[in-house]
Amino acid sequence: MQKYMNLVNGKYVEPLTGKYFEDLNPADNTDIIGIFPRSGSDDIKNAVRSAKEAFPAWRDLPPPKRGDLIYKLGELLLKNQEKLAKIIVREMGKTLPESMGDIQSSADVAYFAAGEGRRMYGQTTYSAQFRKWAITKRVPVGVCGLITAWNAPMAIITWKLLPAVICGNTVVLKPSEDTPLTAHMFGELIKEAGFPDGVINIIYGMGPETGEALVKEKDVDLISFTGSTKVGRKISEECGRQMKKCSLELGGKNGLVVMDDADLNAAADAVARGAFSTAGQRCASTSRAFIHEEIYDDFLKLLIEETKKMKVGVGTDPNTKVCPIINKKQFTDIMGYIKGAKKDGATLLYGGNALTEGEFSKGYFIEPTIFENVDLYSKLAQEEIFGPVLAVFKINSLAEAIEKVNSVKYGLTASIFTSNMRNGLIAMEKFEVGCCYVNAPTFGSEPHMPFGGVKDSGNGQREPGTQSLDVFSEWKTIYLNYS
Ligand code: NAD
Repeated sequence: MQKYMNLVNGKYVEPLTGKYFEDLNPADNTDIIGIFPRSGSDDIKNAVRSAKEAFPAWRDLPPPKRGDLIYKLGELLLKNQEKLAKIIVREMGKTLPESMGDIQSSADVAYFAAGEGRRMYGQTTYSAQFRKWAITKRVPVGVCGLITAWNAPMAIITWKLLPAVICGNTVVLKPSEDTPLTAHMFGELIKEAGFPDGVINIIYGMGPETGEALVKEKDVDLISFTGSTKVGRKISEECGRQMKKCSLELGGKNGLVVMDDADLNAAADAVARGAFSTAGQRCASTSRAFIHEEIYDDFLKLLIEETKKMKVGVGTDPNTKVCPIINKKQFTDIMGYIKGAKKDGATLLYGGNALTEGEFSKGYFIEPTIFENVDLYSKLAQEEIFGPVLAVFKINSLAEAIEKVNSVKYGLTASIFTSNMRNGLIAMEKFEVGCCYVNAPTFGSEPHMPFGGVKDSGNGQREPGTQSLDVFSEWKTIYLNYS
């Protein structure tokens, strides 16, 4: 059994707690991938000290030079793409193509962040006074604590960490306890790329122990968190108390509208993939579909045909479309939602079962599941399930569809399928979300574009895109008097 260690100041160190946890394969819970430190607040303190000591030299390194290291990291990510993707398949469970995409997205953001090192634009403008320059310049925030989710284990790390370091910050990363090996591999690559010791530190552990200690640590100047709204709210409260900068990328309850003038085949494909790929374990999964009454029956037939193609299986099987559920707790929660929906009177149209026999017996597998006749204000229709469960609703107008898409506390993504440009433009205006799509699934973000949500899906920040520089830097205004 391989034992992994924290990465502090460029060295692998044992946790001061002396405790470890197991990293399990969600497709086969007898496969223990390794054991990782169950770190405590003293481990966090050491890592934060290391990041703080590394900060002045990293801050003073010109951004293009920081960009050179990030570019090198991008090259290493691509050189090792398949090896890293196979680790994600084993550790997180998703399919090889999805995992390859995770690494591709990480490399893309590396190239993007490296390029920002040669831009990092501020403003130079006229002062109201004679012979005085007025200038703005981005400066780093300091030590950033980064806390990540497991569903896109490398992409989520890079989406926040690379914008943080290009801006001149040093970081302590607390990756998800469900995907620590991906984070360890990231640590190996940053060493190979030649990042100075202490710029990037990695501390493993549980959320309420290690994560909370990182948030509470006084010398951490900024927290960037990707995870559930419940935990995000807690983090936001603590950061508020400490006047710490805080960026939250949280949950979603994404809706997709199919109008009567839509390309129904394309829409059915988008709903099935949006709801069931990665077993619905995406913040941007389609969990509600609003179908125009004129095409409701025809569309459902197509949707069920598409859903039948979504084979449940292990991520290593090239035919798999619906991967395992990450862990037992998540599996139990999803099955609870399915049971609750039946109890609340929703009609089960497809699936609804856990798969436990044969190849499924060692992991956590759930069939793609579709409900209709769902109460708009039931738990199934309002709460993030983070599993392969879709609720479909009949609507009779665009206005009704938009009102229903907006009826949840979340506001991450939404989509509309229509051949009428006016419908598309009105939906783009009225959807209360951070990212919207016309004739495309509810997921699909690009690293040079901002991603994030409104309402309970975030706190107004955006990572990555150029907008992530606003998260990870402060503006300094400079007046230069030469009168
Ligand atoms: P989670 O909130 O349970 O955990 C996320 C991270 O926070 C983990 O590293 C965990 O260890 C840590 N954590 C847990 N409790 C903590 C605490 N009290 N203090 C500090 N850290 C703590 O979420 P998850 O199950 O890992 O991920 C799924 C969630 O992430 C979903 O809600 C999903 O929508 C969301 N997500 C959002 C985005 C986005 O960009 N908006 C992307 C991916 C996932």
